[in-house]
Amino acid sequence: MSCDYPLLVKTFRAGKKPQFLADAKSVDFARQLDAQDKLKSFRDDFNIPTKASLKKKALDGSILGEKKQPPMVNGDGDGEKAVNGVSQSSADTDDDTPSIYFVGNSLGAQPKCIRTHLDAQLETWGSIGVNGHFTSLENSPLTAWQDMAADCAQQSLDLVGAASASEVIYMNTLTVSLHLMMASFYRPTEKRHKIIAEWKPFPSDSYAIASQLQWHGLSPETSLIEIHPDQPGTMCISTEHILSVIDEHADETALLLLPGIQYYTGQLFDIPRITAHARARGITVGWDLAHAAGNVELSLHDWDVDFAVWCTYKYLNAGPGAIAGVFVHERHHHADANANQDSGVVNGLGYRHRLAGWYGADKSVRFNMEKEFRPAEGAHGWQVSNPSAVDLACVRAALGVFGRTSMRELRDKAVVLTGYLEWLLNGLLEDKVGMGGEGQPAFRILTPANPLERGSQLSLLLRSGLLGRVSEKLAEVGVVIDVRKPDVIRVAPVPMYCRFADVWGFVEVFKRALEEA
Ligand SMILES: *Cc1c(COP(=O)(O)O)cnc(C)c1O
Repeated sequence: MSCDYPLLVKTFRAGKKPQFLADAKSVDFARQLDAQDKLKSFRDDFNIPTKASLKKKALDGSILGEKKQPPMVNGDGDGEKAVNGVSQSSADTDDDTPSIYFVGNSLGAQPKCIRTHLDAQLETWGSIGVNGHFTSLENSPLTAWQDMAADCAQQSLDLVGAASASEVIYMNTLTVSLHLMMASFYRPTEKRHKIIAEWKPFPSDSYAIASQLQWHGLSPETSLIEIHPDQPGTMCISTEHILSVIDEHADETALLLLPGIQYYTGQLFDIPRITAHARARGITVGWDLAHAAGNVELSLHDWDVDFAVWCTYKYLNAGPGAIAGVFVHERHHHADANANQDSGVVNGLGYRHRLAGWYGADKSVRFNMEKEFRPAEGAHGWQVSNPSAVDLACVRAALGVFGRTSMRELRDKAVVLTGYLEWLLNGLLEDKVGMGGEGQPAFRILTPANPLERGSQLSLLLRSGLLGRVSEKLAEVGVVIDVRKPDVIRVAPVPMYCRFADVWGFVEVFKRALEEA
């Protein structure tokens, strides 16, 4: 057996791609990697849907890992399993095998501690009512409601590489925060009015960009530059090409807005190099880190990024639609003496223009109900409304799980886990599994092969016509992946709770699905 996990990690940290040998094809190899995985116990902290639970049609009062209570029907306890008139046959609901949950890039699995934090929030609210704004109860994992967003910021320093908690705030949802950031950081002038983006942003980002342009009386035709893939046959974009587009439009560009990881291809962009290049040309730089936060190592402060936004329900596991994160670099926290007031960037009161609300006011004066806005320090001064404490409780619980490890450790595992998936998939291609009549391979991996250019996701472009049957087959046996019509599946073995044995199992099922499709 050539299974040496630390060596695989070391290889990556030395700037090379971890290599697997022939014996890595066996499930024993996968299990050995699992046995050597320092993070393996984190899986126990999550509710991973089981094959049976995925088929659930009615609430029965249980989440996985909890003892099931027989549902009470008309108080008679023995319950021939009719809840609200829905009868459940136990025949196909008894498979407690965990699913292969490879959609942490879409909705992260549920951390078990979410319930503890929500219970604490409910008990606080129910017990001390309005006083919960300023009081935190002993034994509670939560702070007073007024301090919860700041507490979550403090828990995010390693996550995004912030210099201090004042660079981070949790507020709104991702697209709303993106709009608020653009209101501050996209300040077009006659000369500099363009936004540079990529050719295929997540639709919400596309709509946000186009509507911001229109809001300023501009149009995508005149003011939006889209960076297209530069090598025929791939949907990825080289850094060189991005830099050359920046150069081409540098004098007219106000904002560069890119995703840290492109959601469709899974390509991780060279954030530090691209940021430095654009900033050196006077361009403001924002990153949408929806697919990067909690997935790859980030150093937003050191990379000198102007602003960034991310959601918390993908790799961060805070639950559907949970409150989003925002980063504003320290250099924007105070009035910029060099800024041109006429441009409206810095207003007469000495702080950067923003769409303000009472929660952005300094905490010491927030409840004085003053008419004049005095922003809180840093990113915190961009808050608008009273944030949902229920939402923040979920984010705090989810961040607490990350706080017990580090992005470096998670990344180490992710590189080996994703590399192993890629290696096994390439094995299927070598074995010509599911090859079409004219020697067309069953699929192609769209995601870059270089571990430095991707996170935990591999996007597979299936041969035309295969997607329906393949995805059905995967779903049937309890494999949860993301399907993007017409031909792409996105597979994300996230390091926090996925195992090498899951990767192995996925490839086995995928192989069978291709053979039968
Ligand atoms: C997931 C995702 C979104 C979702 O936006 P919400 O405002 O949270 O609904 C937006 N942009 C990108 C790039 C995403 O990956």
